[in-house]
Amino acid sequence: MTPAATQRTNLLGLPRAALETFVAQLGGQPFRARQLMNWMYKRGVGSFADMTDLARDFRTLLAAQAEVRAPQIISQQRSVDGTRKWLLRADAAQAFEMVFIPEPDRGTLCISSQVGCALDCSFCATAQQGFNRNLSTAEMVGQVWLAVRELEREEQQRGDERHVSNVVLMGMGEPLANFRNVVPALRILLDDFGFDLSRRRVTLSTSGLVPQIYKLARETNVALAVSLHAPDDALRNELVPINRKHPIAELLRACWHYLDEQNGRSVTFEYVMLAGVNDSPAQARALARLLQGHPAKVNLIPFNPFPGTRYTRSSAPVIQRFRDELLQRGVLATIRRTRGEDIDAACGQLAGRVIDRTTVRLGSKLIGVAVQP
Ligand code: SAH
Repeated sequence: MTPAATQRTNLLGLPRAALETFVAQLGGQPFRARQLMNWMYKRGVGSFADMTDLARDFRTLLAAQAEVRAPQIISQQRSVDGTRKWLLRADAAQAFEMVFIPEPDRGTLCISSQVGCALDCSFCATAQQGFNRNLSTAEMVGQVWLAVRELEREEQQRGDERHVSNVVLMGMGEPLANFRNVVPALRILLDDFGFDLSRRRVTLSTSGLVPQIYKLARETNVALAVSLHAPDDALRNELVPINRKHPIAELLRACWHYLDEQNGRSVTFEYVMLAGVNDSPAQARALARLLQGHPAKVNLIPFNPFPGTRYTRSSAPVIQRFRDELLQRGVLATIRRTRGEDIDAACGQLAGRVIDRTTVRLGSKLIGVAVQP
């Protein structure tokens, strides 16, 4: 990267209002911002020289001051089931991951919001790596921009039609811990002049940062998913440590508030199925009691193992029984089909390449710092 490149403003980080301000600073009319967005997001063009309906002088000015730069691809993998995983560069030493999951009726892109994660959920591979930094808005929007382009290029080459119809913030990181950068990224995903996704096709998943859920309700209206994973505080404290700060009752109040504010249909509760830990019929009944009568859906996620984990996946009959207990009590429940397992692209398996700043600082656990080839 040349020094000049780092000083240019990456337009993928600017939602429409900010882009209008930027364009105005360059002496352009506000409608130029919409033209730019049209080129960037509708046509996937990143080079100002190719934006032929912009005045030549304006293009020259843009080329000097701005750039459209998506994260660089380090490597990519394809699962036998068609799931794709990209390893993307955060800087010289670090990387994060993005996954595309094709299904007959949709294509879901799972993007990361941080390099690593600080929340330390005991069953998650990302947590094991520790936390390094927040991704910028441009790095989050850039993931979608890149995936759309890559998939389109492949479509032209191979004829297999794959589109990004849904985006989920379920990759590495806790999106609400990166609130400041996540909200502008959501705006660009939803904007008619941006990716123009409907609010129901963009899902933010959180481990339960309660104050930020209230804040999010004021800022956006995307679909909300919450990693619940346990029906009582004692167990959730162990699995999702943030629960010690924001226990289940408080978390559920925030969820219902979010729906009220946003006129949303329901909150999805993710529940990872860990054999002998949280998967008994009694625990299913306790979960049903928490959610009964509320606009909630439960998504049961078979645990995806990773090296060093102490957990194992609940068996298929146990998961089905758990779902049936919920359904019998009027709580909607589905079982998430595991995808991309052979390339470690399944939920909770994203590990990227993270230099844990927290452990570096503390000087402990340094052996565990993950710098893989
Ligand atoms: N930090 C956010 C985003 C991660 S989303 C959150 O916690 O919601 C990824 C989902 O996969 C979460 O529900 C997470 O709890 C779940 N998950 C994490 N590790 C997993 C694993 N090993 N197997 C299955 N699901 C896992």
